[in-house]
Amino acid sequence: MSLIVQKFGGTSVADCEKIKNVANAVIKEKDNGNDVIVVVSAMGHTTDNLIKLADEITSNPPAREMDMLLSTGEQISMSLLAMALNERGYKAVSLTGLQAGIMTENVHLSARITNIIPDKINSLIKDGNIVIVAGFQGICEDNEITTLGRGGSDTSAVALACAFKAERCDIYSDVEGVYTADPRVIKTAERLETISYDEMLELARVGANVLHPRSVETAKLYNMPMRVRSSFKLDNLGTLIIGVEDMELIKPVTGLACDSSQIRIVICDIQDRPGNAAKLFNLLAEEDLSVDMIIQSYARNNNNTNDIAFTISKSDIDKFNAVKDKINTIISASKILYDDDIVKVSIVGAGMIDRPGIAAKMFDTLAKANINIKMISTSEIKISCLIEKQYSELAAKVLCDAFELDRAEIADVKGDLPS
Ligand code: ASP
Ligand code: MG
Repeated sequence: MSLIVQKFGGTSVADCEKIKNVANAVIKEKDNGNDVIVVVSAMGHTTDNLIKLADEITSNPPAREMDMLLSTGEQISMSLLAMALNERGYKAVSLTGLQAGIMTENVHLSARITNIIPDKINSLIKDGNIVIVAGFQGICEDNEITTLGRGGSDTSAVALACAFKAERCDIYSDVEGVYTADPRVIKTAERLETISYDEMLELARVGANVLHPRSVETAKLYNMPMRVRSSFKLDNLGTLIIGVEDMELIKPVTGLACDSSQIRIVICDIQDRPGNAAKLFNLLAEEDLSVDMIIQSYARNNNNTNDIAFTISKSDIDKFNAVKDKINTIISASKILYDDDIVKVSIVGAGMIDRPGIAAKMFDTLAKANINIKMISTSEIKISCLIEKQYSELAAKVLCDAFELDRAEIADVKGDLPS
C-alpha cells in the first residue's frame, strides 16, 4: 500500500464548504487504496488576523507568545477536517505538531524541522486512520511550540512525506499548478507540466508565491516528487516537481517572477579599504537580517570612497533601523538612502547554463521597453533585475514575449485562472 501526503493551503480550507470539498480530495486518495497523511494550513486569512490581534496589544510581542498564538490557526482547520471525514464514515484523527512528533530547532517564528518521531502517526495509520497534521508548527527539545515561518505548512508536508517515505507529496491550493509567470498578470501564462527542483527553488526564492522555498529544498534533498495542484479541480494533475527533466532543455527560460516585497538601501561614501564591507554585513548579520542583491560601486572619486547598495525585505526595515546608527559610526557613511519603489523581476531556467546571450537578451528587452535597470544579480540558472515598481507588469509582459513564456493558444483557460 502506498502512502500519499496531501497538503491543503489556507484558500482550500477557507470555510466549512471548502473543508468538506477537501474531504472529497482526501477520500479520493483513500479510496484508491492509499494510506494518507494530510497537512493543513490555517483557514483563509486566519494567520494574518492573529498577527493583527497581537499588533493591537503590542508592537513588540515575545516571539514565544507569537508562536503560541499562531499555532492555534492550524488547530482549527485540522479538527474541522477530521470531523468532516468522520462524518463521511472515514476514520480520521487530527494531531498538533507535538502529537505528530515534529521536532524542530529551538528557534521561534522560523524554526527548521530537525527530526520526526514517527511512532504515533505509524500506529494511527496501522489502525486505518487518515492522519491530519497541523502544518507550520513543531516542538523543540524543551517542549516549546515553534512555527516554521510564514507559508511553512508546505515544508511540514514535505518533511512528513520524506520521513514516512511517501510515494508523493501533493500540495493543493487555488492555483492549478506552477505557471511560467503569474497568471493573474500574464493571462496567457502557461502551466508547466513538470519543473526541476532547482528551477522551482529559484522561482520560489525570487517571489513566485507558489511554494515555501524550504519545502522544495527538502524535497530535492530526499528526491521526493511534489505535485502542485488545485483542490477545486481534482482531476487536473497540476505541475510535477522532480529531479531531472527527461528531455533536452529546449527553452533557456522556464519561468518568470516579480517580487515587490523588497527595499533597496544605499550606504554612501564608505572608505574603500579592506574590512569595511565585512563590518557592514556583520552588523546586518548580527540583527539576523538577510540580504539579497548587493552592489558595490567602483571607487573612482577623489575621496577614494564607494557606495554599497543592497536589498532586504520590507518587513525587516525595523531590524535595519536598529543598526543604522552603528553603521554610521563604525564605517562612517556620508548618508543612507532608501528606495522602496522597486520590484525585482527574475527569469529562471536550467536551460540558460552554457547558453550565452540570455542576460543580453533580458537587458535588451527591458531597454526596448524603456525600463531602467537599477541593480542586477545572477546565479547559474537565474537573472534578476531591480526596476521601478510601475514597470512591473510591462517588464513581465515583454520578457514573457521575448522568452516565449506565454502562448496565445492557452488564452481560453482565462476564466479558470485565480482572481
Ligand atoms: N498559516 C501559516 C501562514 O499563513 C502557514 C501556512 O499557511 O503555510 O503563513
Ligand atoms: Mg498559507
